[in-house]
Amino acid sequence: MSAAVFLDRDGTLIEEVGYLDRPERIALYPYAADSIRAMNRAGIRIVMVTNQSGVARGFFSEAVVEECHRHIEAILRQGGAHLDAYYYCPHHPDGRVTEYAISCDCRKPGRALVDRAVRELRIDPERSFTVGDRWVDISLARTIGARGILVRTGYGAGEEHKRPQGVSADVVVDNLAGAASWILANSR
Ligand SMILES: [Mg+2]
Ligand SMILES: [Zn+2]
Repeated sequence: MSAAVFLDRDGTLIEEVGYLDRPERIALYPYAADSIRAMNRAGIRIVMVTNQSGVARGFFSEAVVEECHRHIEAILRQGGAHLDAYYYCPHHPDGRVTEYAISCDCRKPGRALVDRAVRELRIDPERSFTVGDRWVDISLARTIGARGILVRTGYGAGEEHKRPQGVSADVVVDNLAGAASWILANSR
């Protein structure tokens, strides 16, 4: 059973640009590939877990989400890094596309995407981590028994000062590079 990092996408791996509706708008943070590569080499599985309610809202299709993920993977590969899986939730209860307008178990902080990764990639959640710029990413860590790392990129700097009662991060770091360093120092 492997340790994993359940990695948020927007504001964590790539710059937050609102609803990302085409691959040309993707900007990986400059340290992203180096950070992921270091964790790849340590044998830690890296699994993207991202809420993409833009599908339910009718802003873009699942095909566009998948195209964006292929583009991210191509950029990472150029930097000698890779993600082990890309999972996303296309739902939102207020969506206007009927088939996606549901209250689901996979939208973070729901755990269904993590459960899928545990099955498909044989991951041990208790040795794992979540990394993200929102408190939902930390709540997910609490739910699955992982450690939760809040980054200050994206919405993170604002989120840091709006901590919901009963939720706290194991560590708050400046960015994904800081998260990777902390993970490598605290893996077991
Ligand atoms: Mg985010
Ligand atoms: Zn969902």
